[in-house]
Amino acid sequence: MTKTFIFRAVCAVTAFALTLALMCVEVRPAAAETEIQRILKVGLCYGSSAKTAATVTSERGFYVGTFNDREFFEEQIIENTTVMVRRGDAGIVIQDTDGNTLYAEHDGAGVGLSPIYTDFWEERLTFEGSWYRGSLNFICDGDGFAAINVIDIDQYLYGVVSREMSDTWPIEALKAQAVCSRNYAAQNIGKHESYGFDICANTHCQMYTGMSREAESIYEAVDATRGMVLTYGGELCECYYSSSMGSSTEDVKYVWGNEVPYLVSVDNGFEDTENIPNGVWSGVLTADEASTIMRNRGYEVGDVQKIEALEYSPEGRVTKLRVTGNTAIKTVEREECRTLFGSVTKSQMFTVTGNGEAENQAMIAVSDGETLMRRRPKQIEILSDMGRHNVSAETLYTTNGVYQKTYADAEGETSPNTSFTFKGTGWGHGVGMSQYGAKGMAENGYDFGEILTHYFTGTGITNAY
Ligand SMILES: [Zn+2]
Repeated sequence: MTKTFIFRAVCAVTAFALTLALMCVEVRPAAAETEIQRILKVGLCYGSSAKTAATVTSERGFYVGTFNDREFFEEQIIENTTVMVRRGDAGIVIQDTDGNTLYAEHDGAGVGLSPIYTDFWEERLTFEGSWYRGSLNFICDGDGFAAINVIDIDQYLYGVVSREMSDTWPIEALKAQAVCSRNYAAQNIGKHESYGFDICANTHCQMYTGMSREAESIYEAVDATRGMVLTYGGELCECYYSSSMGSSTEDVKYVWGNEVPYLVSVDNGFEDTENIPNGVWSGVLTADEASTIMRNRGYEVGDVQKIEALEYSPEGRVTKLRVTGNTAIKTVEREECRTLFGSVTKSQMFTVTGNGEAENQAMIAVSDGETLMRRRPKQIEILSDMGRHNVSAETLYTTNGVYQKTYADAEGETSPNTSFTFKGTGWGHGVGMSQYGAKGMAENGYDFGEILTHYFTGTGITNAY
């Protein structure tokens, strides 16, 4: 007999939502419906992180069977509370802890494990020692298998929101984050389709480590915004956010080059930029380090001699950055002005100063008989009765008649390390919601709807379920 357990899971969630709706004091008017997919497939390990063996536990045992996309079909019950998932020659097998096979994959359908549970909060299992809500699906991936957490979107958000924002922050800021993260999940269904799931569990999509960071405040934020998404003209918004942005957010066209009516610059006055991590930052790169970074990026400019911010957005973010080397010049634009030297630049809002003359240039000491001055010629002219000759600093030798040194050796002994200094404001790409700005707004009495519609111009909250 076949039974759909995801359907059961959704019923349980709905019943829970109804209870909550009855408890909710604030009920927002339902706007036009925007349909979203509520069951997510989240990739926990795949590709280079695919496994060949893993331990899964459940407090009351498992239903084992197969997933057809998001729908689970139970084939048998396993009473063991600990099982091993292994990659065998013919596919995935489920074994007990003594190595006896309890279930084997057939028809290349993968293997699904769903926990046996009696109430909503018990629908959970462990995978490699970490707790996850929902079910797990295992599919062959190379010589191993990928693990996919099939989970209701709100149960997923319980785990995501506190990875993106501290659970100690004001509840209205957490609610704003919950809506942003729900929008992200709903908009990225199928993003990793080639691997058999929707979104990954890393920062590439949204950071997710199952139940490890769940907290009461996060349950409250997710439950109070149940079903709510941000829309513009009836369509789901792209709810970008980053840690801090200084006095104003940025128009997306100066960051990613496209124009989006609700991703424009707005005031960010509630952000306490001076007193937050990386709100105000500075960093130093030596000319050598800058040269190495350029080479690693595939930009062959030789030894970096100059880094200049050529153009800024009206809000003060660098939109053109020119790097001059001794063999070529490279100019980068928009977001790359932040990411190129991302080890020191935390945002696009910065200034750069410094003299980055390449280190293999000779330094020459000259004296008028009283003071000694150091000079850094790029090349040196030799005058003799043979005429005038140019030599590069690297090939110049000095001698006292006994010892001989190259100028480059001498440089290594005496040159101060040339460097560039970056000073800036804000942490992240600067588009959409400032998380610290949202915190500041919440502390000043704004609710999550006001926070979201402030940062995303012209948008509104819609009930998607
Ligand atoms: Zn991803």
